[in-house]
Order: sequence, then C-alpha cells, then structure tokens
Amino acid sequence: MARLLDGRAVAKEVHREVQQGVETFREAVGRAPGLRVVLVGDDPASRIYVRKKRELAARLGMDSEVLTFPADTPESLLLETLDRLNEAREVDGILVQLPLPDHLSTQKVIQRIVPEKDVDGFHPLNLGRLFSGLPAFAPCTPLGILRMFRHYAIPLEGKRVVVMGRSLIVGRPMGVMLLHEHATVTWVHSRTQNALEITRDADVLVVAVGKREMVDGSWVKEGAVVVDVGIHRTEEGRLTGDVLRSSVEEKASWLTPVPGGVGPMTVAMLMWNTLAAARFREGLSDRMGSYPLV
Ligand code: NAP
Repeated sequence: MARLLDGRAVAKEVHREVQQGVETFREAVGRAPGLRVVLVGDDPASRIYVRKKRELAARLGMDSEVLTFPADTPESLLLETLDRLNEAREVDGILVQLPLPDHLSTQKVIQRIVPEKDVDGFHPLNLGRLFSGLPAFAPCTPLGILRMFRHYAIPLEGKRVVVMGRSLIVGRPMGVMLLHEHATVTWVHSRTQNALEITRDADVLVVAVGKREMVDGSWVKEGAVVVDVGIHRTEEGRLTGDVLRSSVEEKASWLTPVPGGVGPMTVAMLMWNTLAAARFREGLSDRMGSYPLV
C-alpha cells in the first residue's frame, strides 16, 4: 500500500518558513511583502482559489489584495492596471488568475507583468531562466512537487521520470526541473503513441492531464512514486484527481492524495515566491527568483 506524500504537512512547513521570513523582512524594510491577485470574471473555481491565496497571504503576515474585474473588461484596462501594479513600490508580487475570458490574450497579459514581480513564474523570461538553470521564479505547482520530493527524499537522480501533460504551467516546467535533478525525463501528451508502455516504465510518474481518474493501476509500475496534479469535483461534490487512487495505491510506493497533495503545496509556493520577490526587490537577496530550491 502506497505511503502518502502529505502536501498539507509539507505546506505547513513552508508556511512556517515564510512567516518567519516575512517577520524578518518587516523588521528590515518596515513594511510587509505585498501580493496583488487580479481576477477577471466570475468563474467559481477561480474565485475559490483567489480567496485561498489572499487568506493564506494575510495569515502569513503579508499585505494582500484582490483586484476583481467583470468578465467583459477590455484588455487595455487590464494592461493599464498591470502597469500600475508594476510601478507600485509596495507591490512585490502580481498574479493574474487563469483562465482568462476568451477575448483576453493570456500571453499578452502574462508578458505585461515585470519578471521580478511574476510570482506565478509564467513570464517567458522566468521560464527561459528556469530552462537555462539560472535563478528564476518558477511555476508554483511543479515547484511545490519538487519541494515535496525533497521533503520525503524521493530519489530522482538517474531515475526514469514520466511527466504526463506538457502545459506551460505544470507539465513542461516540471520535466525541466526534474531534468535539472538528473532524472531521465519523458513527456507523455495527447499525441503520444503507446503511452501505457512508457508510463509503466516510470520510477516516478507525474500526472497532469486534466482528465478525471484517467490513470489507474494499469498505467503504473510496481513501486512507482505517483504524483496526482489533477483536481476535479464529482457529481456528489467530492474532490478527486487525474489518478484513480483506489487502483493505484495498491501498486505505488508513494502517492499524493487529492485533496491534500499538490493543491496545498501550490498555494504555499506562491507565498514562497512572493517573499523571494520582496527580498530581491528590497536588496535583501541578490537572487532573482526562488528556484533552484536551496
Ligand atoms: P492542461 O493545460 O489542460 O494540459 C493538459 C495536458 O495533458 C496537455 O499537455 C495534454 O496534451 C495532456 N493530455 C490530455 N489528455 C491526455 C491523454 N489522454 N494522455 C496523455 N496526455 C494527455 O492542464 P494543466 O493546466 O496542466 O492541468 C492539469 C490538471 O491539473 C487539471 O486537472 C488542473 O485542474 C490541475 N491543476 C492542479 C493544480 C494544483 O494545484 N493541484 C495546479 C494546476 C493545475 P496536449 O498538449 O497534447 O493537448
């Protein structure tokens, strides 16, 4: 039976570290690190995520605010808002909650945020730095998974890692980070042929396909470490992932639960990134970014 990679517990450890870092920052600079979350439209899931982010930031002593815009907000207004936040001295981290309504260009919006305040790590400059092995603000979900691997001392060097999914926010940066950890990385995506043969060979399998309970035990090698990034709500209101837990837990050696796995780590690493951004902007650190983890 798989042991659990307990995201809630590791996230608490990150919270404690951030809280201490926030206190030290306050003493040195005379203000709290500032996070601004921009929400456009009224997607119910986005509203919940944004609320969680604001609440956690406040609990850790940060100055956090949510800027809410109606779904039909013109792009020019959103870009002007980002320009203002880019300029604001007290704002260290800016995040635009995705997905955006269809009339807005996600890339244009992401690229408008100055890279040193891009605490989501989606700006091409940060992704390029990540790819180059330079300090960067890295996307929070893969960063959180890496932190969990560190916590549980999951061996990565020389291991066969398969990442299912190649999105810019999860799968692609995850694979690059694991390559930096000296794993042998393979990406599986919707056009992959014989995907089962590939995943069954994985020592570590990270599943980020966005398909509810798609991966059952038949995809998994005996003793593999399985990370379930997916979040889905069933008709009964229960949360579940991309992995069918009941079938995989018999085979895997380690498994992330849903809820309580990757989700809490993602929000925790956003706080981690915001503190790192604040420290860099105020000259307390000369490292632009929070990755590589040290
Ligand atoms: P996404 O942008 O929809 O990307 C899904 C990826 O999976 C794509 O690369 C797609 O391939 C691939 N894929 C789809 N069907 C596949 C199949 N049958 N076999 C192999 N690969 C397949 O999703 P995402 O943003 O990466 O998120 C993935 C999941 O994680 C979602 O459920 C999302 O809600 C969840 N999520 C959770 C957190 C968290 O904090 N826990 C954070 C972010 C996302 P193509 O590129 O070929 O289309």
